[in-house]
Amino acid sequence: MFNKTTILIIEDEANVNNIIATTITSEGYNACQSFSGTEGLSMIYSLSPDLVLLDLVLPDMSGMEVIRKVRLFSDVPIIVISALCNEKQKVEALDLGADDYLIKPYGSSELLARIRAVYRHVEKIHEAESCTETFQVGRLLIDLKKHESFVDGVRLRLTPIEFRLISLLAQNAGKVLTNSFIMTTIWGPYVSPDTGIIRVNIANIRRKIEKNPADPEYIFTEPGVGYRMTEP
Ligand code: CA
Repeated sequence: MFNKTTILIIEDEANVNNIIATTITSEGYNACQSFSGTEGLSMIYSLSPDLVLLDLVLPDMSGMEVIRKVRLFSDVPIIVISALCNEKQKVEALDLGADDYLIKPYGSSELLARIRAVYRHVEKIHEAESCTETFQVGRLLIDLKKHESFVDGVRLRLTPIEFRLISLLAQNAGKVLTNSFIMTTIWGPYVSPDTGIIRVNIANIRRKIEKNPADPEYIFTEPGVGYRMTEP
């Protein structure tokens, strides 16, 4: 499985970036290199890597800002690599949604061990999620086990965040979920409470599942409160 695993490196120092790339390539991973926060973010969008190795000090934005921006649209595992061994920063990175933290200097075997550990954790989460069943609401079918959703049998192309959002609503069909509950469940408790991101994702989901997104039959807006999925 590791042959197919793509790891994106975000590190502005070319020699450090190259050393990491060589190390992970020799282990059979597919390495992609980026040298700034902006380039890294755009490669996460376009390549959907399986894991990100992120340096905290970048020329155009801080690594913290990169984590914050990534977590608005992706749950890709992130391992922070930094020379800053300040505990406050470590906690901040983890709170923002980084999965692990590696202090420079480190050995290549330690780096590879961290990558394997983060991977095991992600697999465990997927296993736990696969224990639950499918949800059918009208023409909409959500298969939590296979991470797939369909309308009239046609498979939907949802982003990972959209899939988690629609699954959360379906598992609570008939119940109003507040914006803060949705924010905390999907994005975690440390992301800024800007509910605009929920609105954007709901609008995208509606475009994919509703016949008429302006007059929805599945996901209803409860103004000022949150969202509710219709009961099966
Ligand atoms: Ca740097």
